[in-house]
Amino acid sequence: MACYVQKFGGTSVGTIERIQHVARLVEQTYKAGHQLVVVLSAMSGETDRLLKMAKELSADPDDREMDVLLSSGERVTIALMAIVLKKLGIKARSFTGRQVGIVTDSAHTKARVSRVDTERVKGALKEGVVPIVAGFQGINEASDVTTLGRGGSDLTAVVLAAALKADSCVIYTDVDGVYTADPNIVPLARRLEKVSYEEMLELASLGAKVLQTRSVELAAKYRVPVVVKSTFQDGPGTLVVEEDADMEQVLVSGVTGDRHQAKVTVVGVPDQPGIAAKLFGQIAQSSINVDMIIQNVSQDSLTDISFTVPRADLPRSMSLVQDVAKSINARSVEVNETIAKVSMVGVGMRSHSGVAAQMFQALSREGINIMMISTSEIKISCVVEEKYMELAMRTLHQEFGLDASGIKA
Ligand code: ADP
Ligand code: ASP
Ligand code: MG
Repeated sequence: MACYVQKFGGTSVGTIERIQHVARLVEQTYKAGHQLVVVLSAMSGETDRLLKMAKELSADPDDREMDVLLSSGERVTIALMAIVLKKLGIKARSFTGRQVGIVTDSAHTKARVSRVDTERVKGALKEGVVPIVAGFQGINEASDVTTLGRGGSDLTAVVLAAALKADSCVIYTDVDGVYTADPNIVPLARRLEKVSYEEMLELASLGAKVLQTRSVELAAKYRVPVVVKSTFQDGPGTLVVEEDADMEQVLVSGVTGDRHQAKVTVVGVPDQPGIAAKLFGQIAQSSINVDMIIQNVSQDSLTDISFTVPRADLPRSMSLVQDVAKSINARSVEVNETIAKVSMVGVGMRSHSGVAAQMFQALSREGINIMMISTSEIKISCVVEEKYMELAMRTLHQEFGLDASGIKA
């Protein structure tokens, strides 16, 4: 008897018919005699709908109350699923984040899991009950509801799979695996049979939302075997596993795009030691994640510093940056919200040179201007105008031989 955690995303439980379909998938695993924990997202669009309502009432709604609000979507689907499963004669029981023992820190709307008390889930499994768990939520030490960041149901699934030492954590979604690029943007993208934790982590953090970044981090840490599959069609899906020799043969495994960034430029900054430390020190203190940074060539002892922040954090960043800019006598602060980050990921890049040059040439052939560049051992990212993001992704996908009908470059 194996133990599986199966997570179904928003589209998979988006209608009553789809909930019935998922119930039949759960029934199959149950009837095959396996232990099974089911994790559900809210119905597709529900979390956005709740967010929008709050924003209509306040431009900056209170984070604690947002978590109470946003966590409600998942309560609906777990109850509906338990109802239909019981009707099918399966012993099922719904559990909220609190009931399933997921304890987090107090960073409302992006809480980190600190521990899991699995007593109740284990008890349910022992009784032959299928726990139906609300994804994306937990409670803090004060028993207030918290949520785990957008896409956080993936994290709930991996956390439970790790805690229960499950044989595998299956992420059911609306695509049949992890692709070489978002198949909704690059029609010639190919499904990957397997991808290493490290590559998947980069892909996720650079925009491939098929898995939430922190869920991959945790899966890698606890070596949880993750499989990404389609709810709607049978197939092997994609295995997220440890790196092996085959993977290093492939130069580029995937191309991603991320529109959720904004570029801030502090213009006319005195070119002196300590200025960057002051600017970025202040931003770091408020937990804003600065990604790329470039400092332009100094002219007349003045320089421009540009950096990217998540678009959602822009209002908070701006008020901070304006204050620091004033205190260091910078000339002005400029913002560009219409940028996107396009990246290529592959463990093969470790041992190959010239990938960056080829990437820049391909973009330049299409007349796409590169505003910023950053690299690490296994990825290269370029910031471009947002309107060119999709073109850039398709161009790179083809250039590096990833297209379904393509020949390896
Ligand atoms: P769920 O609601 O099931 O959690 P998500 O919308 O969060 O689903 O993630 C699935 C979506 O991720 C796909 O519909 C696809 O558009 C997008 N996606 C982005 N990059 C990739 C990729 N490299 N491979 C597969 N899907 C991707
Ligand atoms: N419902 C949440 C969201 O839309 C969590 C999830 O779907 O994973 O972000
Ligand atoms: Mg998701």
